[in-house]
Amino acid sequence: MNKQTMQNPLLQSFDTAPFSGIKNEHFLPGIIQLIADTKDEVAAIVDNLEAPTFENTVVTLENTGTRLDRATSIFFNLNSAETNDEIQQIAQDLSPLLSDFQNDLLLNEALFARVKTVFDTRKTLTLNPEQSMLLEKQYKGFSRNGANLSEDKKTELRKIDTKLAKLKLTFGENVLAETNAFEMLITDEAELAGLPDGAKEAAAQTAKENDKEGWMFSLQYPSYIPFMTYASSRELRKKLSLAFGARAFQDNKYNNEQHVLDIANLRHKRAQLLGYESHAHFVLEERMAETPQKVYDFSNELLEKAKPAARKEFNELEAFAKELDGIDQLQKWDSAYYAEKLKQKLFSLDDEQLKPYFKLENVIEGVFTVADKLFGLQFEADDSIDSYHKEVKTYRVTDAEGVLVAIFYADFHPRAGKRGGAWMTSYKPQQINDGVNDRPHVSIVCNFTKPTASKPSLLTFNEVTTLFHEFGHALHGMLANTTYSGLSGTNVYWDFVELPSQVLENWCYEKETLQLFAHHYETGALIPMELIAKIKESAAFHEGMQTLRQLSFGLLDMSWHGADPSEIKSVKAFEKEAFKNTSLYPAVPSNCMSTAFSHIFQGGYSAGYYSYKWAEVLDADAFAYFKAEGIFNKKIATKFKDYVLSQGGTQDPMELYVKFRGQKPNPDALLKRAGLI
Ligand SMILES: [Zn+2]
Repeated sequence: MNKQTMQNPLLQSFDTAPFSGIKNEHFLPGIIQLIADTKDEVAAIVDNLEAPTFENTVVTLENTGTRLDRATSIFFNLNSAETNDEIQQIAQDLSPLLSDFQNDLLLNEALFARVKTVFDTRKTLTLNPEQSMLLEKQYKGFSRNGANLSEDKKTELRKIDTKLAKLKLTFGENVLAETNAFEMLITDEAELAGLPDGAKEAAAQTAKENDKEGWMFSLQYPSYIPFMTYASSRELRKKLSLAFGARAFQDNKYNNEQHVLDIANLRHKRAQLLGYESHAHFVLEERMAETPQKVYDFSNELLEKAKPAARKEFNELEAFAKELDGIDQLQKWDSAYYAEKLKQKLFSLDDEQLKPYFKLENVIEGVFTVADKLFGLQFEADDSIDSYHKEVKTYRVTDAEGVLVAIFYADFHPRAGKRGGAWMTSYKPQQINDGVNDRPHVSIVCNFTKPTASKPSLLTFNEVTTLFHEFGHALHGMLANTTYSGLSGTNVYWDFVELPSQVLENWCYEKETLQLFAHHYETGALIPMELIAKIKESAAFHEGMQTLRQLSFGLLDMSWHGADPSEIKSVKAFEKEAFKNTSLYPAVPSNCMSTAFSHIFQGGYSAGYYSYKWAEVLDADAFAYFKAEGIFNKKIATKFKDYVLSQGGTQDPMELYVKFRGQKPNPDALLKRAGLI
């Protein structure tokens, strides 16, 4: 052991992450060393003189880079949950090294040749389902990246990838530039009518930061959403809405029309090079939905059922707006405003009423009790487990027999170095090595209301469902029970990964669950049942229109990616056609969705937007099964654990689902929950 190795905790063996010993200066040299070690491990596979076998190639490759993965997971988790300038700089330095390493691996022809030899003889091997899955996943990792192509086609593919990477970046930069370019300064306080104090204060603060008098609003969500929801000035809502919808669709250097066309065409070309009919065919090959046709069938079936409800809701909303303000034709910029007013009228449910019943500590106890009742899990706080911040709670999770199931970290409150939102992540994957079941280390990170000097942390109902959601992901990680880490826990197809998280949210709406923990933090009184009923009812508010909206985005995504786009001339005309079946509001000629649809043109959701609704169908259908048999029914919970949570990506998700449910998912449960049938 050299000096660097001895002093760098990342280069020593450890079980729980050794946070307190790690200094920022350990990351770069440590990870560079581990990349080099992993390259040696890969070289040893390639240099093996024995003929390739499942064990000496596929399994050995699966097991390379274990220490590198652990070090990078620590680093990137910190970069999300407890970052600073120094860590961000290291991330900038590390990212290209890691992506080069990944690319080199996928372009390693000698390595691919060995994997291919095993893959081509798979029919003659006696592999179990998990082994077959591992082999296929590994092989596809190479082939979907062009490993089977001739040299000139490989070069073409690389060129397309480089162009696409650049275009996606530019697309995103343009949306950001257009979002930031707009500002709306208000100097007459009367024009702020309707806005809550918090939104006014934030706008005053923004104005001040820009050396302006008054209140400044922008197209960023924290400013835009409250304005559209609460501002009573229809003129100003219209102004803001039109600006939002025109992003990257104006006659200036940030226009994305050509970029949309270029991205769609390059993706299509890439898919064709690899032998797929379209980009959507390429993407969906590794999804539960499997084919574009199935996504269309799924979407159209829901659409037909949601449309009448959406129409009805729209007409009611329009009548409500007419009655209230004499509005004859409801426009896009009216939707959030009148919906909020109507919701208040129907349910008069506000967060302040509910929060006293959701003290954070009580909700945590509640979610642990749910995990115990369903899966027999015990959570014991253990402060001896090292963590990266004093606010992080650490637990040992055991089963009913006291056997260790997982280490669980929970990090609840916002801090300067934490990014927004909530997520589940992992510090160590589960796997079975030489017969030893190595248990996972799982974490959830949230940004919940902090305690104050006079009050404990009291959660909004939305925060309660968020906690259950992330905890559902965490259960997927904690209950993993597979041989290979790459197929373990949440390593499943995209349109399957939200099932465990979303299904657990359903428990929050149940009396039986709330009775376990929703007690007033001062009086100890149980949450009134009429509040629970209201929560349930208001959850289904405007579900018809919401469904229609989600489906319209999914169908637009499929239109761009499900067929040859080379004949498309006008982005706007194409989009209008795609929205033909799903629009409720009058069209706005100066607005375009596609030019700012970052999910699909910049992020990873291309041919995948449908998966939001897909996951809802799964979770509603799965919960309907629990509901029918009892939400704490041990038998159903055990089936869910055995066939879904513990299986990770070892088998086809539809097969797993059918084993759990006894049948394929049926959208009726979702439609019923949403009040659409
Ligand atoms: Zn999720």
